[in-house]
Amino acid sequence: MEGPSLYLAARQLKPFRGKTVLSVSGNTKIEKERILNKEVKTIFSWGKHLIIQFDEFALRTHFLLFGTFEATVIDSPLTGDYRRSYTPRLQLDFENGSIKLFNCSVKFLETRNAKASYDFTIDIMSPRWDSDKAFDSIYSNPGVEIADILLDQEIFAGVGNIIKNEVLWRARIHPERKVKNITPSELKNLIAETKKFSLLFYKWRKAFVLRKHLDIYQKSICPRCGTKVERKKTGKRNRISHFCPVCQMT
Ligand SMILES: [Zn+2]
Repeated sequence: MEGPSLYLAARQLKPFRGKTVLSVSGNTKIEKERILNKEVKTIFSWGKHLIIQFDEFALRTHFLLFGTFEATVIDSPLTGDYRRSYTPRLQLDFENGSIKLFNCSVKFLETRNAKASYDFTIDIMSPRWDSDKAFDSIYSNPGVEIADILLDQEIFAGVGNIIKNEVLWRARIHPERKVKNITPSELKNLIAETKKFSLLFYKWRKAFVLRKHLDIYQKSICPRCGTKVERKKTGKRNRISHFCPVCQMT
């Protein structure tokens, strides 16, 4: 789940606001019974987190590499980025539907206002996203490969591997280029592309047309120059990069 999918999920789950949790199940080790009979105050996303705020505490779900969710909201099914059928980590049932969280980390936050503890200036989907702050944070890591920087949740909260690959292709930057070898104008362009693409990701994901709009992620031929797309694990994060060895400059 990348940030835009969680931003969408938080909106799709809005009908559970003001509803009471009627039953709780799942294989999580946290004390899930405390959610029983509690009323949902609000649901929001930050980066790759989905937060359900109750009166006295909040439930924070962190979707790791392949975490996802399923929900039924007033008889309509919703799904996250991956389909999963095994036992949910946590399932909450309401009078108007249910939420199932899979393959993720769930944790209680002991606060009546979890939203106040998050820095939305680094959340790629937030209207408060601060591109100048991202620019400064990136240049303070001169020796780091740019593909690793894009996955840094302290700089680009919500950016995952799909967004990383697509924006590097759009900005014509090789994933293994170090920050110190990227010019300020290239970096400004990359940051702008990342924000722009994340908003498009949201729009396409909402309309179920994300895959057909991807240019480089899991593609075999570069749509710009016809070169065979290269796939390799890059950087210290060792995540797969999909890139064009010809039009993405090293
Ligand atoms: Zn190319």
